[in-house]
Amino acid sequence: MNKMNRRTLLKYAGAGLAAGVLSDSIGKVMASSPSDKVKSSGAPGFTGKIPFSLIVDDGSPVDPLFYELPGYETPFLVPAKFTKRVADTFDRFDLHGKFTIIPMPSCLGRIDQSLKRVPQDHLSEFLKLMRERVAPRFDITPEFLTHLSSYDLKTGNYKRHLYEDTWITQAPKEEIVDYFTLAFQILKNVGIESTGITSPWVSGIDVEDKYAQSLADAQWNIYKRKLTWYFLYAASDKEKPYQCNVKYKNQERGQVVVSVPANAGDIFWSMDLPHKKDRPKFIRDGIDRLLSPDGKTGRIRQLIDTGFPVVIVTHWQSLYTQGTQLGLEGLTSLADRIQKVFGSGFEWVKCSEMARRYVESQA
Ligand SMILES: [Zn+2]
Repeated sequence: MNKMNRRTLLKYAGAGLAAGVLSDSIGKVMASSPSDKVKSSGAPGFTGKIPFSLIVDDGSPVDPLFYELPGYETPFLVPAKFTKRVADTFDRFDLHGKFTIIPMPSCLGRIDQSLKRVPQDHLSEFLKLMRERVAPRFDITPEFLTHLSSYDLKTGNYKRHLYEDTWITQAPKEEIVDYFTLAFQILKNVGIESTGITSPWVSGIDVEDKYAQSLADAQWNIYKRKLTWYFLYAASDKEKPYQCNVKYKNQERGQVVVSVPANAGDIFWSMDLPHKKDRPKFIRDGIDRLLSPDGKTGRIRQLIDTGFPVVIVTHWQSLYTQGTQLGLEGLTSLADRIQKVFGSGFEWVKCSEMARRYVESQA
């Protein structure tokens, strides 16, 4: 399958529209064995509660799809009012997980400097909300630099025809380390500590050893962090789930790199439906597939019963849903249902905490 197809397909994972094709291409890359399963008790940090994480990809002061999919109609700027509503929802349900901030969204410039066509106060307010309202509950990671064309570290230009997923396949390790180091530095410059990284699309899936080692070096360069992690693997609710995985260890530094997967695709990605009126039902059906109202069936129940991490992925664009906020309403309903079903038996945790508990359980 070529890269453009994989880019598109990953977005559909939640709908399960392309589940078969996706399984075929990446489902077998990281088969898990029963011995990989996280022990549910005895590990340090074990609270007796089932950990859940929410991943929100593609966070940015602009809707990144504006440029990513030509012809896609969406307001270019995501209003601060919406960002606040998202933060309020995170607070209301005490949601934890990972939130992406793209360091050079849509190749418009650097968020620690300025972005083309984006008023400076809009950018500042977005970053302030991220620092003060989102970062306390969510790991913040970059999603490489642009989530689009690769950035030329030497010339400072964007390589229009070399997307980041193609770039990482061919780039020497030293260049990837520098690339990731810049991503972490940009976030650091705006007051955000990053515990790991997110792959745009499935970038790095074909060169995962090089990817994990580059991440280890870049994290060491900026933070001297001993436990770092990345988000690359995503299974829809109809696919075989993934386990966390220790992908690389640097004995000298005592450093560990963990892959944290998502095991429920983006059920709020309703923007591809031909008729807008079908969107609310599409989202409601997705919520039922993840967890039935009585909590007895659904993907989440299945993941818990089989010992796979309960990590749910969505996207900034899907929460926004072209300005309608339908996805955010859906997230509210899902979080509410999870809360009602699991009560005090579960807790939302950051993805770095998922990674840490996994490493402890394997020790
Ligand atoms: Zn993404």
